[in-house]
Amino acid sequence: MSEPDCLFCKIIAGEVPSEKVYEDDAVYAFRDINPKAKVHVLVVPRRHLANVAELAEADPQLLAHMVGVARSIADESFHGDYRLIFNSGRDAGQTVFHVHAHVLTGEVLDE
Ligand code: C5P
Repeated sequence: MSEPDCLFCKIIAGEVPSEKVYEDDAVYAFRDINPKAKVHVLVVPRRHLANVAELAEADPQLLAHMVGVARSIADESFHGDYRLIFNSGRDAGQTVFHVHAHVLTGEVLDE
């Protein structure tokens, strides 16, 4: 289920280094190398799917699990408040075509 040329598949496999925050059988979470908030974590399903719509169709429970992981990260690093972003498509800013949730937390965020 992994794609040989996918950066996030390589990060999940440990072939590209990352700063792990959390992992389980379904997801891997690590700190974004270019943080946009005090805490900026990417929650990535191990299963390679291109974007959030594909994920929602293929495995809605996995999407719900990712939301739960995001909430746990925010509980641990702030007081439970967080921003959850899925960029979907090149013109929306998606640069890695392995679905991932940006979790922004750890401080009061700008609107
Ligand atoms: O939503 P988008 O596809 O643009 O998000 C990709 C994210 O992956 C970027 O925020 C980028 O900083 C991050 N990244 C990373 N580690 C890498 C390559 C990209 O955290 N090795």
